[in-house]
Amino acid sequence: MDKNIKQALAAIVGEQHVSDSVADRLCYSRDCGPDKAGLPDVVVRPGSTEEVVAIVRLANEVKKPVYTRGRGTTFLGSGVKDGVILVEMTRMNRIERIDLKSGYVTAQAGAIWRGIDVALQRVGHELAVPGGGGLFSCTIGGTVAVNAIPHGATEYGMTGDHVLGLEVVLPDGSVINTGSAANPSSEPIERNANGPDIAGLFIGSYGILGIITKVTYRIRPIPEEEKFGFYAFDDYREAIDAACGIQMAQAATFIVGLFGGPKPAGEEGDAFLHVIVRDRASAARERLREAGGICSAYHGRPSSAEGTRHYWQEHMYSWLRNTAPGPYYSNRPYFCPEVAGFTSTPGLKKAVELFRTLRAERDAEFTRYGIRVKGLDAYFVRNGAYLWIDTLYDERRADAWDYALKLRGDIAELMFTEGGMSPGGLGAGISPYIMPKLGPTFELFKTLKKTLDPNGILNPDLLFPTGGTT
Ligand SMILES: Cc1cc2nc3c(=O)[nH]c(=O)nc-3n(C[C@H](O)[C@H](O)[C@H](O)COP(=O)(O)OP(=O)(O)OC[C@H]3O[C@@H](n4cnc5c(N)ncnc54)[C@H](O)[C@@H]3O)c2cc1C
Repeated sequence: MDKNIKQALAAIVGEQHVSDSVADRLCYSRDCGPDKAGLPDVVVRPGSTEEVVAIVRLANEVKKPVYTRGRGTTFLGSGVKDGVILVEMTRMNRIERIDLKSGYVTAQAGAIWRGIDVALQRVGHELAVPGGGGLFSCTIGGTVAVNAIPHGATEYGMTGDHVLGLEVVLPDGSVINTGSAANPSSEPIERNANGPDIAGLFIGSYGILGIITKVTYRIRPIPEEEKFGFYAFDDYREAIDAACGIQMAQAATFIVGLFGGPKPAGEEGDAFLHVIVRDRASAARERLREAGGICSAYHGRPSSAEGTRHYWQEHMYSWLRNTAPGPYYSNRPYFCPEVAGFTSTPGLKKAVELFRTLRAERDAEFTRYGIRVKGLDAYFVRNGAYLWIDTLYDERRADAWDYALKLRGDIAELMFTEGGMSPGGLGAGISPYIMPKLGPTFELFKTLKKTLDPNGILNPDLLFPTGGTT
């Protein structure tokens, strides 16, 4: 590590917020998933937008790439390369404004999702989506940067749908505001003001086009009532038809379908639907009754929804299978090379069938390498389904690790072609399987990257597996 660069960074953020210790560099290199990553030269923790600007300008001068990190809770590969500057955002965690009259919160990008929600709950409000399963640890900036698929997506939509404005440091160090806030005399109340949707460029962009430093996000009053339903089906196709019916009737806030993995404790069946409804009390009762009627029409059997309620209120996936977190997760070092993506709801039948067939064909290999299927679960979104294919392997076994990564690649190839699936989450582990399939759209990504970031400063190569942007 060049000592001059470390000193220059210390002059920007203060010595206590820069580290080149091997332990820190190692800890900040990977995300939660199975992909190995390079070792950054230095980790730096800015405390303000001005400090982010100074770091990015320095990186341009010394031609050293910067990788931005929230809390590293993705599973799909950080893509960090050897020798880079790692910018960690969690010192920038202030909630700057809660505006109950215009319905928004503005927070620095490193604020933790749940922390913002708790502050809002004190005034009877909540973020417009509850967040994904990583909500207790992830930052709002990282969650917008990956456009996470949140709980409640059936009614509330995606994380990015409720962004009203962003403050972003571009790769050359200039600072922009998007939407109405681009006009210094306006408030950040409308994403679509002042021309094209510039915020959309950064939502789901994995930090390759800019570092998000502030997020203005829509809020809502906490709904009066929550109702829960749980239904077992003997044929997964009927469960999917039922989910489609509920979706089109707009009868649920969230539908989660279980199409593989362990069965919920005490339940029999081939597939299961959890249904969550949030609304005014009378409307919630009526919508759950309608959802239950649709499930019955497709031979769904109602059962106890206690697991559903626990899942929704505690945001612990184990409750989807009616199991407390302790016994479900245990203390084994299992890692999850997930493949996930959007399909149409009718198209989900094909994807489920393809995975079940692959699982059966590879039974001997799954046994040999100790691979488990944790879940084949779908979050139903507004116009389709988001299927999570979660396999687990024991990271202590090198052969299992190699096999699991190969398996992930095979599943991704199968799903992104025959399964008709398009991933939401990308990351260094998934982008090689999808980007080359995108043709002219991939070329446009490259052009945008080259135009905004000619020196390849921000997260270079992360979404460009086929030889960078050149
Ligand atoms: C238990 C668990 C459950 C999860 N469940 C879900 C789920 O239901 N749905 C879902 O979609 N995801 C889920 N995830 C994944 C994860 O929560 C999200 O991807 C998360 O929101 C990422 O936030 P982060 O702060 O950890 O970002 P990081 O992982 O640190 O960063 C993610 C990407 O965004 C970039 N980035 C980070 N901050 C910024 C910034 N300020 N500006 C620009 N780029 C930035 C990084 O460079 C990186 O490319 C889960 C994770 C865990 C651990």
